[in-house]
Amino acid sequence: MTDTFASAASASPSAAYTVPQERRVVTAIPGPKSVEMHKRRLESVSTGVSSTLPVYIKKANGAILVDLDDNHFIDLGAGIGVTTVGHTEANVVEAATNQVQEFIHTLFTITPYEEYIRVAELLAAHTPGDFKKKSVLINSGAEAVENGVKIARKYTGRRAVAVLDHAYHGRTVLTMAMNYKAMPYATGFGPLASDVYHAPSSYPYHDGLNGADAAVRTITYLEKVIGASDLACLVVEPIQGEGGFMVPADGYLPLLQEWCTANGVVMIADEIQSGMARTGAYYASEHFGWVPDLVLTAKGIAGGLPLAAVTGRAEIMDASQPGGLGGTFGGNPVACAAAIAVFESIERNDLLAEGARIEKALLAGLEKLKSKYDIIGDIRGRGAMIAIELVQPGTGDTTKLPYAAAVSSIAAFAAQHGVLLLTAGTYGNVLRFLPSLAVTDALIADALTVIDHAIAAL
Ligand SMILES: *Cc1c(COP(=O)(O)O)cnc(C)c1O
Repeated sequence: MTDTFASAASASPSAAYTVPQERRVVTAIPGPKSVEMHKRRLESVSTGVSSTLPVYIKKANGAILVDLDDNHFIDLGAGIGVTTVGHTEANVVEAATNQVQEFIHTLFTITPYEEYIRVAELLAAHTPGDFKKKSVLINSGAEAVENGVKIARKYTGRRAVAVLDHAYHGRTVLTMAMNYKAMPYATGFGPLASDVYHAPSSYPYHDGLNGADAAVRTITYLEKVIGASDLACLVVEPIQGEGGFMVPADGYLPLLQEWCTANGVVMIADEIQSGMARTGAYYASEHFGWVPDLVLTAKGIAGGLPLAAVTGRAEIMDASQPGGLGGTFGGNPVACAAAIAVFESIERNDLLAEGARIEKALLAGLEKLKSKYDIIGDIRGRGAMIAIELVQPGTGDTTKLPYAAAVSSIAAFAAQHGVLLLTAGTYGNVLRFLPSLAVTDALIADALTVIDHAIAAL
């Protein structure tokens, strides 16, 4: 099968790309080579690990993924917000390559090196807040959440951890208890960690509450169900990721922070998906005037290499005894070199402005689709983190019934036509746009044309 309608995108004018920035479908999806590879995978890879789209990738650059069969996909997922600066971004590739040749590992907790310190300095400079900050580097988002909780418990001497409804924080034994959805993250994997509490969140499209009322509802839960004096931390994604890109009502986050500060609770921003220039700001918290005590960074920090961090108020970060934090691979020098290059690229290429450009292009295109199709109930997000929530026909002004079947059909149609589109949402009825900041307006327009056809074909 070849593509049924022409690509509107032309190759990027930039010679910096090693793969033409265009959509090109030359086989059925998945193609024959991917089908063969998938058979091998089923023999050796645990079925507990799933894949959204079983096309096997051989190359990626900018906003394009190339599979074994030479299909070129517009990547609107960026490995879930990881290749934020673009796939194989030149600066990141160079920095990592150079570092590999110098040294690959020593273990910072045995013989340290400058790259780790530099990443900590950059995080201190770019996370919200003007106070003295320190960091610990680890390997993954879930590990950042776990360390944030450990640090908050040590600092406060308290036990309880609070999260919000619709949250996603990871797949480790602690973090699976912090997620909203049991399926697929926790079902059958229990017992779950104790002392984790799920408080109501702000979800304006559904709850209709302003920030102050939503904050009162959350705080009432924290005070009544847990009690402030037992609460170590409240962990919040400023824009919820897997939950469906919910943007909280104005004032909600600063009011929660104010309550946490007044009650000696450490408030932690899980910016693992929303951070690192994804939303047109270094950290999404900035959009809401929120200055968290601790900030968790992961996904986009190192251009695709595994690295994560907890950064925050020095007095909180220093509460742990020496040896209490860290790990074998945490702050790996190659990942740190890549992260330094990511920070440089954000500055040098003014990537905060690219986030704003992508927001504008996506919102304009999606508004047009919304006026055409009443199943698009809500459009929300910031920068290159935008989602649409699909509701069953005729329910957009009333019950807003989730329309998950439409989301799966649209994503499947898009994949057949060379657009990798991720789904999300507690009810599976959200399509999320999480491209790299390298995605051009032409690629966005082309992808939206495909999605238009996909909705029309429902
Ligand atoms: C992805 C994600 C995590 C978990 O990160 P991993 O690197 O997959 O462990 C935690 N919180 C949020 C908001 C995420 O998006």
